[in-house]
Amino acid sequence: MASGAPRWCVLLGILLLAGCREPISTPPRPVVLLGVDGGSWNVIRELWSRGQLPHLEDLAERGISAQLQPVANASPVIWTSIATGVEPSRHGIQGFTVQTPSGEAPVSAVNRRVPALWNMASSAQLRVALLGWWASWPAETVNGVVISDRILREERGRFYPPDLDPGLLAETALPDEAVASAYGVVARQDRLMASVGLQLASEGYDLMMIYLRNVDTESHHYWKYFRTQGFETEVDEASLQRFGGRIPEAYARVDEVLGALVARASPETNFFVLSDHGFQASKGERYRIQLHLDRVLEHLGLLIREDDRIDPVKSVARTWKSPPFTRTKLIRFSPFERPGYEEWPDDPDATRRRLQAELERITYEDGSPAFRFRNLKAKERARGGDMVVIVRYQGVSPALYLEGERIPGAIGQVEEISGTHSKSTEGIFIAAGPDIDPSADLDKIHSLDITPTLLFALGLPVAEDFDGTARTEIFRPQFRDRFPLRTVPSWGKLEARESPDSQSEAELLEELRALGYLD
Ligand SMILES: [Zn+2]
Repeated sequence: MASGAPRWCVLLGILLLAGCREPISTPPRPVVLLGVDGGSWNVIRELWSRGQLPHLEDLAERGISAQLQPVANASPVIWTSIATGVEPSRHGIQGFTVQTPSGEAPVSAVNRRVPALWNMASSAQLRVALLGWWASWPAETVNGVVISDRILREERGRFYPPDLDPGLLAETALPDEAVASAYGVVARQDRLMASVGLQLASEGYDLMMIYLRNVDTESHHYWKYFRTQGFETEVDEASLQRFGGRIPEAYARVDEVLGALVARASPETNFFVLSDHGFQASKGERYRIQLHLDRVLEHLGLLIREDDRIDPVKSVARTWKSPPFTRTKLIRFSPFERPGYEEWPDDPDATRRRLQAELERITYEDGSPAFRFRNLKAKERARGGDMVVIVRYQGVSPALYLEGERIPGAIGQVEEISGTHSKSTEGIFIAAGPDIDPSADLDKIHSLDITPTLLFALGLPVAEDFDGTARTEIFRPQFRDRFPLRTVPSWGKLEARESPDSQSEAELLEELRALGYLD
């Protein structure tokens, strides 16, 4: 479907060739959309001024650039609006997680209530490739290929079609230590999506959508080493040497992927590069600390292990439903097994005072206390907690200490968060290709405008019930004349779907915490 005359022209051959040269039903040209989570003009312009990111610069020079207005702050919410043209309240993906009867779960495709661009294009018989998009697991049935955002997990429905050529997923290797962290998993997934994208780029897909996430995670983590001004703790030369390249390198990888895609795709392709939001410095430093509170309790003699298992009789207290990356930690007192969560152990106040006195002795390397305390909230008590402890962010060090003595294994990772974004941090939009008018005047485009605009680029009708509009002004007049805007009342809704059992939800939630998305 990507190009060429319709079949009847080929069948009738030379007799009708003149009439077939520009048949009205010839589909418009293919579209490639490269989504860069957290891509920000302030970084791109700075890197352009250093002579970097040549492919992004070339694309912007050939086409148009604008600010992209986010519809929300959380990535899955914005990327779903980008792909559906409707507000979050209508598409149903409103955060990183949803509450299910069995607890909190990461959002997935079954939470989306309206069709996305890939469903619309598929239903119009266009060939689509969807690679890595947020909340694309379980992979939907499309006229083409879906590599879902849970491709690296042991999940059913990781990709579509089920008989996908396994060679497509043979990924470029990453060093083992890089894959050991949540950041490494993101980098690995990006590499995989880029590799699949490059393999499919010359296969004549009408719509290819590739999503890359690493710029966002690196920008949260390393912003202060890119824009060093305005932070409480000054950035020292050694750290600058070590981390100053992280953000530029993340952008350079995106730029390379873009360059390779442009080189590989047909010259007929219209390219769109966009982000969901930009980036700025966060006020005050924040951390994500992987803190194993049970190791601390053990060190204080309050938790006793027998053959690696917590001894329920000898132990006084243990951490309760609080994974290592959670900042607010619940503690449960012995006896741990009680008929109902509302029940209290004997004299909980005395135990609480004792624990608080013990935990107040725990410090970071410079002597700053590691914990603070507050009263238990009703909700926390309902979850089975008897006490709550909050990890402090002042004086954070890679280990915890009891009277100057290091407590082994209490802290795993310390992640510093110095970059942030909000609903008003504008993202990027670049479009270029044979049908894009470089002289078009486009200052801003809303994330809700993307789906209607891409439908227009693909010659498909735009729904009257979209919350965004097709920005037809970015297309050349010849294109607009040849493929005038068509509308339909609606692209409809999706039926409610059941989620397959997921094997990796706990792991995914912990990863979202590690990356700083969840508390
Ligand atoms: Zn982010």
